[in-house]
Amino acid sequence: MSYTIADRYLIKKLNTNSILKVVLEKGAVSRADIAKILNLTPATVSSNINSLIRDGLVHEVGIGSSNGGRKPMMIELNENGKLFIGVDIHKDGVEAAIVNLAGKILARSERQFNGHSTEFEDDVVACIRNVRDFLPNMKLDGIGVGMHGIVDTNQSISIYAPAMSRRNIALKDYIEKKESLPVFIDNDANAMAIGESWFGQAKGVRNYIFLNVGRGIGSGIVINGELFHGNRYAAGEIGHIRVVESGRRCVCGKYGCLDTVATEYSIIRDVINAIHTGVSSSITELSKGDLSTIDLNMLKEAARLGDKCVLEALDKMGRYIGVAVSYAINMMNPGMIVFGGSMSVLGEYIIESIRSTAINLSLDECAEGVFIVISSLRDNAGVVGAASLGMQNLFKST
Ligand SMILES: [Zn+2]
Repeated sequence: MSYTIADRYLIKKLNTNSILKVVLEKGAVSRADIAKILNLTPATVSSNINSLIRDGLVHEVGIGSSNGGRKPMMIELNENGKLFIGVDIHKDGVEAAIVNLAGKILARSERQFNGHSTEFEDDVVACIRNVRDFLPNMKLDGIGVGMHGIVDTNQSISIYAPAMSRRNIALKDYIEKKESLPVFIDNDANAMAIGESWFGQAKGVRNYIFLNVGRGIGSGIVINGELFHGNRYAAGEIGHIRVVESGRRCVCGKYGCLDTVATEYSIIRDVINAIHTGVSSSITELSKGDLSTIDLNMLKEAARLGDKCVLEALDKMGRYIGVAVSYAINMMNPGMIVFGGSMSVLGEYIIESIRSTAINLSLDECAEGVFIVISSLRDNAGVVGAASLGMQNLFKST
């Protein structure tokens, strides 16, 4: 069999990406171990590692242990070898962070959209500029954007951003022109799912769902190690599964969607309603009587104090999420469900009711062996996930 130059280039790229991923996952590792893990010849591994060293992506870190014979030189990821900006655009604001190859955040900035967020592009660019100003001398390699709503990853446009009532926003072109860096864009939950597989709980898991629960609810679906976007890029809209008969009207126009009962807004609304009906809660004191100031930190503190009103609201929220998750488990038979997004800062007070409801309602065979866990990236999942969209060309081996 003969290879063309293009074939050779592709094979080399796949090999260097696979090697880089092993180094990311294993930490310090020898060339011989890499050859064994990837079933490559020592010569191929050496040649590819030499190019990774030249590109500043890995470096040698001293001598490892050996069972006899020459002790091997260990290879380690050069964490700051490339830096990416991760941008998370949600319903009412934008966060941006400079993230290194180990998924660590070096600088971070956020900005709220003003009033009606129909014209938000300038705020996004301002937030990016702000975070760049923290590290003005660092070379940056790209920008990843996690955008709420539905994103056409082929044309790199936001097809529909419901919170902004906007369609067909050419975000990639806009940001690339302003920032002169390559821009990669996907739905926010999809970006988080990628980030979780490289830097969080889903390392090595082939089939899993990332739940982004925050100001809205979405999910990123990974099948056989690949993101599943669906026929028209709209897969994973778990927030619009109906979980309440005759429920509230949702932003999508339907009624009783999960999005109406399990977001940051709905939990705050439920706690305020309970207090207004005479339920006593430490929130009244924590908010100094001004219930309009309730935020996630306040809810977390109340939950830590064992506040019954808040704990019950969180438990109820978990049960609603569990209902939707049971559908996903029956449809997909995943190995893992990762609970992430801004609400995951309250994860330990919600995860048990998600877990028990989801397992109770799904078919035993579908739920067998599924791990339902809290994202280890927590509220960093948005920016780290977005940055990992930019890194896909480095790590992606399939
Ligand atoms: Zn809906």
